[in-house]
Amino acid sequence: MTRDLYREDSYLKSCEATVTSVTELGIETDQTVFYPLGGGQLGDTGKLTLADGTEITITDTRKDRESGQEYHVVEDPAAVTVGDKVTLTLDWERRYSLMRFHSCLHMLCSLIDAPVTSGSIQVDRARLDFDLQDPIDKEPITVALNELVERDIPMSSRYITDAELDAQPELVRTMSVQPPRNAQGTIRLVEFEGVDLQPCGGTHVASTAEIGRVLIKKVEKKGKQNRRITLVFD
Ligand SMILES: [Zn+2]
Repeated sequence: MTRDLYREDSYLKSCEATVTSVTELGIETDQTVFYPLGGGQLGDTGKLTLADGTEITITDTRKDRESGQEYHVVEDPAAVTVGDKVTLTLDWERRYSLMRFHSCLHMLCSLIDAPVTSGSIQVDRARLDFDLQDPIDKEPITVALNELVERDIPMSSRYITDAELDAQPELVRTMSVQPPRNAQGTIRLVEFEGVDLQPCGGTHVASTAEIGRVLIKKVEKKGKQNRRITLVFD
């Protein structure tokens, strides 16, 4: 199993690692700072550097949901051998945008009292779909989001057991995304103090001021009971 350093510290930009498996899917290492696609957040990109200085571009990071295996996607995995000592370096600017958007979606979640049906975090925009019939006004939500940003609310994370989560089903906001349960039978909770608390395996900023000013770009009606809210950095 890969040790997920991004979960302990989402601000780590690179790490040393040892290659533990190479398949046509990609390269697995003993530890990584690369977040694998999941929970609506894109997989990380960046580079892998071999001991001789050769640089290999990582175009995506994926996780096999059944085996739990995480792998870095590269064009030619055969260029790397099991046992190689490598350096993994994130495309930090891209990842930081994803972190800011992910935290912002948690803020959006806290403002709208309806179940989330799906979500997506891209490099230049993010969206959430709500199971909601009523129309939504862009302006007041933009104002409320920027107020939460200005309040600079700190983020913290902790783990609870499966049984504790099952006893509090109201914590699960996103119907299409399963809570990030792990092999130890625990689930990570992400909390923005006093504003939002929910199970989440994604990467976040340390406090909401880092999100910066945001703007609701559009609200679309997707089906009779679905409102899609897309936001961008202002
Ligand atoms: Zn999340």
